[in-house]
Amino acid sequence: MQYDVIIVGGGAVGLATALQLKNQNPSLKVVVIEKESVVANHQTGNNSNVIHSGIYYKPGSLKAKNCIHGYNLLLDFCRKNEVPFELCGKIIVATEEKEIALLKTIFDRGQQNGLQNLKMLKAEQLKDYEPHVAGIAGIHVPQTGIVDYRVVAEKYASVFQSQGGELRLGEKVSDIKLGSDQVTVITQKATYTAKLMVNCAGLYSDKIARLTTKKVDVKIIPFRGEYYKLRKEKEYLVKTLIYPVPDPNFPFLGVHFTTMPGGGVECGPNAVLAFAREGYKKSDINLSELGETLAWPGFRKIVSKYWKTGLGEMHRSYSKAAFTKALQKLMPEIREEDLIVGGAGVRAQACDRTGGLLDDFLIVDDKQTINVCNAPSPAATSSLAIGETVADWAKKRL
Ligand SMILES: Cc1cc2nc3c(=O)[nH]c(=O)nc-3n(C[C@H](O)[C@H](O)[C@H](O)COP(=O)(O)OP(=O)(O)OC[C@H]3O[C@@H](n4cnc5c(N)ncnc54)[C@H](O)[C@@H]3O)c2cc1C
Repeated sequence: MQYDVIIVGGGAVGLATALQLKNQNPSLKVVVIEKESVVANHQTGNNSNVIHSGIYYKPGSLKAKNCIHGYNLLLDFCRKNEVPFELCGKIIVATEEKEIALLKTIFDRGQQNGLQNLKMLKAEQLKDYEPHVAGIAGIHVPQTGIVDYRVVAEKYASVFQSQGGELRLGEKVSDIKLGSDQVTVITQKATYTAKLMVNCAGLYSDKIARLTTKKVDVKIIPFRGEYYKLRKEKEYLVKTLIYPVPDPNFPFLGVHFTTMPGGGVECGPNAVLAFAREGYKKSDINLSELGETLAWPGFRKIVSKYWKTGLGEMHRSYSKAAFTKALQKLMPEIREEDLIVGGAGVRAQACDRTGGLLDDFLIVDDKQTINVCNAPSPAATSSLAIGETVADWAKKRL
């Protein structure tokens, strides 16, 4: 089967890329190959469903540029295709004196990234937004919203298919071979050839990349994020979204309260090492994947640098009391019995050999391939912008 472009991975990034390729050139023959029987079954379908504003990211970084541009593209897409979303706003809350400087840095970054109407809040002003929150200062971010990313991805897929794009579900890519001017992608059911392969395989993006290029020298480390839900009768405690000030040394935002697009309030996610790349439960262990993680030199360096933070996250994973304590920093009246076990997602976090957890998006191209190797949060928000970038790169190659 001959195509112009083969995309591996039917998550938000792969499907948005497919859509942007068709938008740029409707005559392109594009196929998306996804190993699951549905789209968005991994990171895209198991995340916090937040439309991020771009406030956190270093001005000029790919995350900053793609988040804000992606935010606008996503809202346009949702409006045009009747995907429900809500711009409910959020607050970021400092609970300790040492967080005030970080809060100011976040505020400045937001302004440099072009966000309008951000507001610094004093302790008493926090209550205007969230009456049950306790903090010493905060930021109100009016742009933040919520959307169901599974619904978004399904809509990406249906628009792509209505434009003549092909979606092959239930086919796992097992090998990729480069020819002189084409690439061959092999699944358990078929063999596909194309001028270009785009790798959007999320938790397996490093493995797919290694099949064809030596340029990618990162390992995906899977970090599970576990959620609790607030009992229905306690949902009144949270009006919108409430975030802590994130630890600047860690690429995760810290446990927060999020109102959900379909109703209800989620609390989390934490960030614990998953013992399998698709390890959604504590008991999910894949010995070969775990062995690879432990053997990666960068991972051993992370352990030596962040063992204390990591142990804290593990403790919160096994102890509901410890998880509740983290939430109580933001909302003292929360009790353990207010929380019921929710779902989990696994983040694909690229780690280099020196122990750096890559903060920015990483896209690497080589002969007949473009590899999206690090697309952590806010890549669901940014998916159409990342897709546009990849489509621009692809245009030069086709
Ligand atoms: C707990 C959590 C909370 C998050 N919260 C937010 C948030 O609120 N807002 C936000 O913007 N972002 C958030 N993110 C990040 C966001 O979900 C991801 O950045 C985004 O979904 C990445 O999309 P993707 O398409 O790259 O990956 P995925 O959605 O993981 O898709 C990759 C796809 O590739 C497929 N695949 C893998 N290997 C193969 C193979 N060999 N053959 C065929 N198919 C293959 C997989 O089955 C999968 O469907 C969160 C992530 C997590 C885990």
